[in-house]
Amino acid sequence: MSVKVRFAPSPTGKLHVGNVRTALVNWLFAKGQGGSFVLRIDDTDLARSTQEYEDGIEADLTWLGLTWDERYNQSKRFDRYGEAAARLKADGRLYPCYETADELDRRRKVQLSRGQPPIYDRAALSLTDAEKAAFEAEGRRPHWRFKLEGKRVAWEDLARGHAEVDTASMSDPVLIREDGLFLYTLPSVVDDIDMAITHIIRGEDHVTNTGAQIEIFEALGAGAPGFAHTPLLVGADGAALSKRLGSLSISDMRDQGYEPIAITSHLGKIGTSDNLEVAPSVEDLGAGFAFSKMGRSPARYDTADLDRLNAQAVHAIGYAEAKPRLAALSVDLGETFWNTVKGNLNKFGDVVDMAKIVTGPVTPVIEDAAFAAAALDLLPDAIDADAWSAWTSAVKDKTGAKGKGLFMPLRLALTGQAHGPDMAAMIPLIGRERLVQRLKGEAA
Ligand code: GLU
Repeated sequence: MSVKVRFAPSPTGKLHVGNVRTALVNWLFAKGQGGSFVLRIDDTDLARSTQEYEDGIEADLTWLGLTWDERYNQSKRFDRYGEAAARLKADGRLYPCYETADELDRRRKVQLSRGQPPIYDRAALSLTDAEKAAFEAEGRRPHWRFKLEGKRVAWEDLARGHAEVDTASMSDPVLIREDGLFLYTLPSVVDDIDMAITHIIRGEDHVTNTGAQIEIFEALGAGAPGFAHTPLLVGADGAALSKRLGSLSISDMRDQGYEPIAITSHLGKIGTSDNLEVAPSVEDLGAGFAFSKMGRSPARYDTADLDRLNAQAVHAIGYAEAKPRLAALSVDLGETFWNTVKGNLNKFGDVVDMAKIVTGPVTPVIEDAAFAAAALDLLPDAIDADAWSAWTSAVKDKTGAKGKGLFMPLRLALTGQAHGPDMAAMIPLIGRERLVQRLKGEAA
């Protein structure tokens, strides 16, 4: 049986590193197993879902290289959810309840004050037809709860090992709201059955849901698929990232200049036994993915790691790939230039500053005018690949300066900066005319 997984985001916000990690783990697992990946837009909540967010989800996944084999909108499948609901009602597993939110709240408070767990008491199960009719006559509409069996539901979790949920400790979940809206729980199971999903992979915040959903699979006459619940992300300080996720959207990260492969390598490897290194491609990442490498402890999301991986990814970009991107920034100064500067970039866009060192204007930093004048006198006529070493040894002989005392004043005069790419490779790119002007202290 070939693997088929799904990513089911709600188009009620932007994708952030938390839900993209779920998408990625699904995708990596599927691709590693030669399986397929379904994108299922969880837009049953028509009031909160927007086309703009839906488009954003597609754009972000595409940018990250997480392509899908099938795609669905849950909002187009209400008929199927209605059929499933009818079956559950006929079997007595879905029952109408008429309590208002206030009434439920009051009951919960009483339970808590008595030291009891705040579980729904199933009062609605004993309503007579006359009582139901009276509520309806009052204008109340029912919400519908799924009657749990109240048992230990167990499964072998790919990420957590043996897992169990006691559904006796849970309230019967509401599957349909009084306004007729299907809450996520039932549509998700109906779709997982209809689409023949083999594995449900999602964050560990869904473990309790899984207990109820396995009962719903069974109630609908289907076997439950495999499950993996991945550990949640925590920040560098160890605190849960959930509150900060809103500020970690993928579209913002794209705007900040992060490479997609840096993001996928980072999210795919944190919390695993793999070294934190950038992968050659997201397909390679899939080939190396295994749940057995994933620990149960939270995955530490540290921006410093992402920055390191991003620099690694930029350093690995060959000229052919860089060329159109350089052209788009109007800084395609050729292959030698790219190969000379790329090792000094943290983000691709930093190349603009590197190009400025070549094309100017650079404001030279000269502390010792006599030293700069002596260096200017000795500047070779031909500025080729060997010029730097011949020139600096001549300057050393003449002035007695050596080491940092020799190289730093030259770098500062010629680039205006204390750090930067290899000077031997830079000076032929800068060219003799600008070198002369800069050694004279002129902005050029
Ligand atoms: N839309 C749900 C969520 O984002 C999907 C959960 C699931 O994968 O079953 O939480």
